[in-house]
Amino acid sequence: LKTLLSDPTLLETRAYIGGAFVDGEGTFDVTNPARGDVIAQVADVSRAQVAGAIAQADAAQKEWAKWTGKERASVLRKWYDLMMANQEDLAVILTAEMGKPLAEARGEIAYGASFIEFFSEEAKRIYGETIPGHQRDKRITVLKQPIGVAASITPWNFPNAMITRKAGPALAAGCAFVARPAELTPLSATALGVLADRAGIPAGVFNVVPSSNASEIGKEFCENNTVRKLTFTGSTEVGRILMRQAADTVTKCSMELGGNAPFIVFDDADLDAAVEGAIMCKFRNNGQTCVCANRIYVQAGVYDQFAAKLKEAVAKMKVGDGMEDGTVFGPLINAKAVTKVQDHIADATAKGAEVILGGTPSNLGGTFFQPTIVTGATRKMAFATDETFGPLAPLFKFESEDDVIEMANDTIFGLASYFYAKDLSRVYKVAEALEYGIVGVNTGLISTEVAPFGGVKQSGLGREGSHHGIEDYLEMKYICMSV
Ligand code: ADP
Repeated sequence: LKTLLSDPTLLETRAYIGGAFVDGEGTFDVTNPARGDVIAQVADVSRAQVAGAIAQADAAQKEWAKWTGKERASVLRKWYDLMMANQEDLAVILTAEMGKPLAEARGEIAYGASFIEFFSEEAKRIYGETIPGHQRDKRITVLKQPIGVAASITPWNFPNAMITRKAGPALAAGCAFVARPAELTPLSATALGVLADRAGIPAGVFNVVPSSNASEIGKEFCENNTVRKLTFTGSTEVGRILMRQAADTVTKCSMELGGNAPFIVFDDADLDAAVEGAIMCKFRNNGQTCVCANRIYVQAGVYDQFAAKLKEAVAKMKVGDGMEDGTVFGPLINAKAVTKVQDHIADATAKGAEVILGGTPSNLGGTFFQPTIVTGATRKMAFATDETFGPLAPLFKFESEDDVIEMANDTIFGLASYFYAKDLSRVYKVAEALEYGIVGVNTGLISTEVAPFGGVKQSGLGREGSHHGIEDYLEMKYICMSV
């Protein structure tokens, strides 16, 4: 892997704690999912080391919070510039450890970096408030202050961006940050540490603690009184565990959890645009994102036509090593992910669905899987309630607007939703009726640093991105003065 990088020092296998690169207590292997070979042995940080990192972050935060917004903005901007200057190397590292096609990895680096850029600008705009006093002698001021030390636990599907969209607002707000990356993809995180160091982010303000033992680190983050903010992206299952654990220290939580996104195509939709949107939204990252369409509802009048067009377009796309030109579908992250896709296909066909494309592993072997489309999907099938997180597009047929809204909302999740339609009154009505934090109308791509990303119901708490995103890292203090 080093030989593929123009700057091999970006491949860092040690933890980044208190401004120093340090060994853990042992190492763990990181493998390339396209080939199955071990690409690095990364520092396995112990719980005691994490406690030490939190103490160092605490000390550093006190100073960092004193910096002016403009001063913090200037080093964050440098960090952003370095990410973009090293975009290619960061993308290669990401593809090597995670498997997504290099073009998508480049896109993720730009997307990830955009959060650092956006929040570097926001660092100067953390406005408080003055409120007219309730008595003649009273003056009321509201300050916004950094919450303190923030800790993150992030997944493998966006090894860069899931960290930057938390660290960006945290650092801009004046918090210090301790990141525990997914054990499958720690190298993208340690590379961020290398660049943070070069950008001049003060020692201890940004820390990366790779560990193969997620639950121990999660406990430390929750039980350590110094951590005042826990920010998590991952499954609803693990989110619930962390919230329970965080209850004892009343630690403020942000949770970006699972989704089960509906993608609705109405009779009046532009079908070609809907096919294109469905492909982007369903198959990006091989279906391994929490905003990927999981249930595609197509109105009866256009169902067959939509299925045929989708099949034709997807059939042309290449499955292969993400490092190879033209690859659209890399490998799935691991064998467990393959089993889940297979289980969902078997469950659906047993209940009457028909596979019209794919349906089986790719002949490339490993964890490569053919993009799959099934028709005749019903709400009794597993994917109606459970996120597949893989390249499986189930097509449900519906008759009326009311029916599809009811079906789309019939889930404990509420992250992203999408629909294609032209009738303006329908567009308003459906957008308002969908119980989701995000609604894409006539688009399959909704992620941007300038908008508030997040879910309702059991998809999470809090928002990431936009000027709202920084609020999760700020506390309000109200000063009441008698004059
Ligand atoms: P995914 O299916 O995306 O891996 P998970 O919720 O299982 O979703 O994992 C998301 C992150 O949470 C990963 O970094 C994982 O290591 C971590 N994790 C898993 N279990 C726990 C736990 N009990 N406590 C803290 N972190 C955990």
